[in-house]
Amino acid sequence: MSVGVPFLDLAAQYDCIGAELEDAVLAVLRSGHYVLGPRVEAFERAFARTCGVEHAVAVNSGTTALVLALQALKIGPGDAVITVPMTFVATVAAIEQVGARPVLVDVDPDTRCMDPGQIEAAITPDVRAIMPVHLHGHPADMDAINAIAARHGLSVIEDAAQAHGARYKGRACGGLGQMAGFSFYPSKNLGAAGEAGCVVTNDRHLAETLRSLRDWGQEGRYNHVRKGTNARMDAIQGAALEVKLRHLEAWNEARRQHAATYNDRIHGAGLTLQGVRTPHTADDVDPVHHVYAIEVDARDAIRDSLATAGIGTNIHYPVPVHLMPAYQSLGYPPGSFPVAERLSQTLLSLPLYPEMTSAQIDLVVTALTHAMDVSEKARSQCRG
Ligand SMILES: *Cc1c(COP(=O)(O)O)cnc(C)c1O
Repeated sequence: MSVGVPFLDLAAQYDCIGAELEDAVLAVLRSGHYVLGPRVEAFERAFARTCGVEHAVAVNSGTTALVLALQALKIGPGDAVITVPMTFVATVAAIEQVGARPVLVDVDPDTRCMDPGQIEAAITPDVRAIMPVHLHGHPADMDAINAIAARHGLSVIEDAAQAHGARYKGRACGGLGQMAGFSFYPSKNLGAAGEAGCVVTNDRHLAETLRSLRDWGQEGRYNHVRKGTNARMDAIQGAALEVKLRHLEAWNEARRQHAATYNDRIHGAGLTLQGVRTPHTADDVDPVHHVYAIEVDARDAIRDSLATAGIGTNIHYPVPVHLMPAYQSLGYPPGSFPVAERLSQTLLSLPLYPEMTSAQIDLVVTALTHAMDVSEKARSQCRG
């Protein structure tokens, strides 16, 4: 019997929905229809409803969803796309994959999402689109971003890979820009039984282009009208996702409750007075806490101490994209994005998944309290 708390526990999810999932997947195996088809189409319809949009186009990963969204807008060599350095690398990689140039702007220290105040200074004549990221499941400030995009004739593609079911001013993420890319990587709020993703849009023409792009640019069998690729979703993933989508709202609600419990316990233990910062929720948004990340100065020491207590943690993300070895070529030296750089040194993601218990949250906060005391003593010794 382990006394720790894992960062994530997908086996606990399987324990709750295993029978449903096995029925759906077995039905696919028996059907002989393994790629796209009726299960994927049913999921597409259901997921479009969740996002409050007309069309969902299922693909084989979140990265591919972003790549195809850019390609559907004919964004490529000679074009630039504005995004953020505080994200998973795939956001920036997708832009480079279509041959366009990523232009980065810093994030807001509260929402940790794109700071709309930084966008206009970054707009050059080659900029075609803005790609905000709803980091940790907290929506970016989409009204401000859309207003700037409209003023400059730019498209907006949401990277909604962490924001299934999140709402901004009452509207679901995914329906807030021209298109949005979702990932169903197993650890996301809505996760497949493997790799999967989806593009959603209200634009029928873009949806048709996306369907063609994901299937070798076909419009009708062997009629290749554009250069596409193989980005089709497996039927097993469509079936698994359709089952899991029925639970998404309950899972997100559990995440919200756990986040509220964390906030209460952390404040109650006096840890905010010791310098722990709990995640901020902007007015009029309903986040889905893909990640519950606190900010704390002695992050690495705290993380080590939690690991010793058996508490799984993670960092989203320890290095902002512009400082990664592979992305030096973007030409942003250290100091270019002070907020993202500071967050990369202070963010610490605590265990959060729907099936966890408040007793487990108590264990985490007790271990965090101990870690803060140890770190405070070590610092006062240095001063003395
Ligand atoms: C997970 C993720 C992606 C990539 O999705 P994959 O399905 O892993 O390709 C892109 N952007 C963000 C913000 C993500 O968290």
